[in-house]
Amino acid sequence: MKVLKTLATVLAVGAMALTASTAVFAQDKGSIGISMPTKSSLRWISDGDALVKALTEKGYTVDLQYAEDDIPNQLSQVENMVTKGVKALVIAAVDGTTLSAVLQQAADAGIKVVAYDRLIRDSANVDLYTTFDNFQVGVLQANSLLTGLGYPAKPGPFNIELFGGSPDDNNAFFFYDGAMSVLQPLIDKGDLVVKSGQLGMDTVGTLRWDGAVAQARMDNILSANYSDGSRVDAVLAPYDGLSRGIISSLRGVGYGTADQPWPIISGQDAEVPSIKAIIAGEQYSTIYKDTRELAAKTAELVDTLLTGGTPEGLDTTTYNNGVKVVPSILLTPYAVDASNYQKLVVDSGYIKAEELQ
Ligand code: BGC
Repeated sequence: MKVLKTLATVLAVGAMALTASTAVFAQDKGSIGISMPTKSSLRWISDGDALVKALTEKGYTVDLQYAEDDIPNQLSQVENMVTKGVKALVIAAVDGTTLSAVLQQAADAGIKVVAYDRLIRDSANVDLYTTFDNFQVGVLQANSLLTGLGYPAKPGPFNIELFGGSPDDNNAFFFYDGAMSVLQPLIDKGDLVVKSGQLGMDTVGTLRWDGAVAQARMDNILSANYSDGSRVDAVLAPYDGLSRGIISSLRGVGYGTADQPWPIISGQDAEVPSIKAIIAGEQYSTIYKDTRELAAKTAELVDTLLTGGTPEGLDTTTYNNGVKVVPSILLTPYAVDASNYQKLVVDSGYIKAEELQ
């Protein structure tokens, strides 16, 4: 009896060990370094979480680091990942031009590199770029401003002020150029008027996508150009965090009342506080980019690269990083306003209804 019991125990332990080692084997495809820019914006937290989930499901271990928008910090985090021998790096750069040296080390070690959402510039050692159609983001932002203004049924002229993203982020230029492809002809016609005269990314860019910087710039624009009783009718804002800074500035001089209604303000990322602001009528629109889809696609491509496959269906013309055209995936962005946020961002599960309470 005792022998049988011992045998049963040995078999059971053996079976457990077998299961455990099978599981370890399935999880043992190597480690992936994920370097995200900052936790100060909700979208990058969602991106990081979604990447961890998608890569873990494919059998990789992950090392996820956030750089808190600090260039040297990101550099040392990526260097560490290279030293630790990751198989691939997935990087959303703080500054897309500062990673060349570490990416050379990565290439020398045979590590694959995917630029995530933001293009990494000035390096041949970028294998792929996964992003959204960033020019189209700008087009959607500008068109939503026109919809909000009721243009052309209401012909204007309307006063508009322009904000750009961070000049060290390649995306910022695509967003701005996309928006200006719609707005510039109307500015030229006189239907839109930029009272501040501030145009061009070198003037309207917002370093590190910092909402406080946008707020301060809006304060200056308002006091220098709108103290004469004229009103701002629309603001091109490329990211929800900037939109919220701009809204604070406008609130400070009395916008948001029956006498002085909010201008039409755009945004990007469908962040919870901004969807709330859209529901409250403070912000007019945002752009929804499903970061779950971006993460899943990225994980799939990393796996293809690491298992010796050839990624298919890539865009090989749009993104020249200064050294080469980086093969890219461009996912679809969607404009969101009060009329469709429920369908696009809540029913899709991107934001939970209770988060908007
Ligand atoms: C991203 C945007 C984001 C911005 C600020 C850009 O690179 O594409 O989705 O709003 O960075 O974080």
